Amino acid sequence: MSQHPRTSAFAPTPDPLTPDRDVTHQHFRAGETVVVLKGVAGGELWGDSMRVVAPSWHTPTDEDGWRLRDATGGAQSYVTAHPRYLVHLSRRCPDCVIHLRAMEDALLARFAGREELIDCGWYTTTALGHLVHIADIRGGR
Ligand SMILES: [Zn+2]
Repeated sequence: MSQHPRTSAFAPTPDPLTPDRDVTHQHFRAGETVVVLKGVAGGELWGDSMRVVAPSWHTPTDEDGWRLRDATGGAQSYVTAHPRYLVHLSRRCPDCVIHLRAMEDALLARFAGREELIDCGWYTTTALGHLVHIADIRGGR
């Protein structure tokens, strides 16, 4: 996993896997470290590393989510995310490793040879602090 390099580029790219990922709420526990994958940098996936704080309702999907703390988040240090957005960093669990490998397979070749940070633009944060995937934004909400 890369740290954030200085330069970045925005590259609208479909997320091939996250919207259909099947992961339960109880797959995660408070205290674990997770990453929300956001793009590619220097030939590796990159994302925001966060700590799982507590169960929290994820309003954009009307499903159980997790409150997360982003140590580098500034004014938005806390966000609520759906479990399928999260990948374990604190333990090498098979489910998350498979997802990570599949994301690498789908994305790294596409951005081969690009060194800058590429934000694929999959996530936004609502005014109420909910992290929402572009596939979960439904009309009129
Ligand atoms: Zn996992």
